[in-house]
Amino acid sequence: MSELSTTITMSGGAEIPRYGYGTFRIDDDGAQAAVETALATGYRLVDTAVGYQNEVGVGRAIAASGLGRGEIFLTSKTWDHGYDEVRRNLRESLERLGTDYLDLYLLHWPRPDVDLYVESWQALLDARSEGLIRSAGVSNFLIDHLARCESETGAAPEINQVELHAYFSQPELRAYHDEHGVITESWGPLGLRAGALFDEPAVKAVAEAHGRTPAQVVLRWNLQRGNVVIPKSVTPERIRENWEVLDFALTEDDLKAIDALDTGVRQGGDPLKLN
Ligand code: NDP
Repeated sequence: MSELSTTITMSGGAEIPRYGYGTFRIDDDGAQAAVETALATGYRLVDTAVGYQNEVGVGRAIAASGLGRGEIFLTSKTWDHGYDEVRRNLRESLERLGTDYLDLYLLHWPRPDVDLYVESWQALLDARSEGLIRSAGVSNFLIDHLARCESETGAAPEINQVELHAYFSQPELRAYHDEHGVITESWGPLGLRAGALFDEPAVKAVAEAHGRTPAQVVLRWNLQRGNVVIPKSVTPERIRENWEVLDFALTEDDLKAIDALDTGVRQGGDPLKLN
């Protein structure tokens, strides 16, 4: 991948592919077909969640791929909180996915109204010690939530999967992640208002200069800013288009032109409100 490594080492010692495939808003049947296409294209990280209701389809695609389990990096997430609920969710996800471990398990949202995320985080740490998951992380956590997990359990999450695209590039959160050894993983990397980012003059100019599509440019920007990136598509041509971001590089000027699109405004769910 030109000057970028293909994997990043997390604080627990395991490696995560820098680039992967997301499965939000795909049902079981769709997920089976799309994940099979993604794996055949070359993606090796697959991101699902109990809330996506497609773990059975994802599991079927992995089984049909002909790849060994160890060749695939599989992420799922729990919506529920509480020590026992998280443990139960994990067991059920493993069953639906047809595997005996996950490479990465995440608390999907902090749900501060429920206020059980620290004991839920402890459940992930214990599952990691037992080998049920190789790495433990969170998603949509704000700095306060990350800090509390670390101070109350002594262990910071290995990764925080958050909304991150050129319109919302989260510089403050990323700086905190860097200081605390937390990997940043970007969801919604194409921007949540379909196509808007692709029409930005800055994106179009960079795309033209490199002979790439606007989608490829914003994905490449996200990778070069140091994040793990997991675009989703059910469209085979787009699955392949999105894969072809590993063999070119943006210049520092290109990156800065895209950085300038940051609005500081979240487009997706608010971690303080979503419950
Ligand atoms: P993405 O930024 O990946 O965008 C997906 C949308 O863009 C789909 O409508 C897709 O259409 C379209 N698209 C994909 N590729 C292209 C392309 N090359 N050109 C034009 N349009 C394209 O958004 P997601 O919200 O899906 O985020 C990615 C992944 O992150 C999710 O799938 C999920 O795994 C994860 N996620 C996690 C969340 C969390 O709370 N932790 C929240 C949301 C997502 P089509 O499929 O029709 O081709």
